[in-house]
Amino acid sequence: QAFLKNAQQLNPRINALITLTEDQALAAAQQADRRIAAEDTTPLTGIPLAHKDLFCTQGVKTSCASKMLDNFTAPYSATLVEKLEQAGAISIGKTNMDEFAMGSSNENSFYGACKNPWDLQAVPGGSSGGSAAAVAARMVPAATGSDTGGSIRQPAAFCGITGLKPTYGRVSRWGMIAYASSLDQAGPMARSAEDCALLLQQMAGFDPKDSTSIQRAVPDYQSLLDEPLQGLTLGLPQEYFGADLNPEVAERIQAAIRELEKLGARIKEVSLPLTRMAIPAYYVIAPAEASSNLSRFDGVRFGHRCADPKDLEDLYKRSRSEGFGEEVQRRILVGTYALSEGFYDAYYRKAQQVRRLITQDFMKAFNEVDLLVAPTTPSPAFDLGSKTSDPVQMYLEDIYTLGVNLAGLPALSAPVGQVAGRPVGLQLIGNHFDEGRLLNVAHQLQ
Ligand code: GLN
Repeated sequence: QAFLKNAQQLNPRINALITLTEDQALAAAQQADRRIAAEDTTPLTGIPLAHKDLFCTQGVKTSCASKMLDNFTAPYSATLVEKLEQAGAISIGKTNMDEFAMGSSNENSFYGACKNPWDLQAVPGGSSGGSAAAVAARMVPAATGSDTGGSIRQPAAFCGITGLKPTYGRVSRWGMIAYASSLDQAGPMARSAEDCALLLQQMAGFDPKDSTSIQRAVPDYQSLLDEPLQGLTLGLPQEYFGADLNPEVAERIQAAIRELEKLGARIKEVSLPLTRMAIPAYYVIAPAEASSNLSRFDGVRFGHRCADPKDLEDLYKRSRSEGFGEEVQRRILVGTYALSEGFYDAYYRKAQQVRRLITQDFMKAFNEVDLLVAPTTPSPAFDLGSKTSDPVQMYLEDIYTLGVNLAGLPALSAPVGQVAGRPVGLQLIGNHFDEGRLLNVAHQLQ
């Protein structure tokens, strides 16, 4: 009730939630009370959560912040939603986001922009901006997000919370509406690394319904949090500390690195020479996969349908033109172009080759160091409206987050201070399946 009250009071100003499911939440809370009385609990029993509005939630609207799915009620729940419910967590609603997870500011939402609770003039980041803002404003203690190119880490950084993008395949994608399937990964967003560990514990694991889910034991993340940092080598990728980086953000990151050294970690400079190539490679691969994934929204099976179609062609054209926002249409066009005959080799195949080289750079770095430490974003949260007229300017914001998704690696953003009242995030990048280590290092810092 306390969290619901907070959400009702703050949401009109922040716009972090698209749907609030008050009655269901209170019913679930009563059930949690019964579980507690019967001593049948997990660390999440009775804990309120909010889910990004691209996770299917049975009987509850699942819109992807798109007019296309404004009328869509999911007939089943995503695996991770089910797992969290089985653990006793309570969903209080669905969070705002960039339409179909395409964006870095949460301004591409059919339901209007979400605001940063630290400064209402600033964006909360995107695409999981609603989840980050809801946690930062204490509407919920934790939320779920998805990260295709930074959508958990960048809003976590902008809103001063902790967000973890797990290794590709660690958390089931079943029931998560697809943006770019080879990059998409769901993860926790919470106040601390410890809370993220508790959530990931329940979310992670093999799911036969997701063909890219990985069959590998899930470690006890909580028990790893207090491991000492002595003997750990942290790599600083020099390309993440170049001219793009705001000097005040750089100072906060350096201060956190000194703290990690005091805790016993050793620091070593490494190089990820193809860092700049992550932007062009990602912005070919992600739209290409999106153009294919989004072909299912045709006005026939579900979602928005135009009025009085003349024929099938007209039905497709008008339903999609009316249902998808500008950025989504831009990505579909770019992706369709990159996949079309005559351009496939020049763009899509080339981008896949660059992807492989970027992955190799990370693997080389992990031969020398245990983890990579870097900023999450080049600058703190920018002003609402300041980048909406220039999509390329917006894409450049993702420079430090995209490589991780291209390589399928786990990475976490943890808060390390502020610049002019706007939070700064430190990014920790691990080798595949090293989530425990990322949570450990962030926990020691917190
Ligand atoms: N900002 C990136 C994009 O617009 C990443 C979004 C995401 O991770 N979902 O594609």
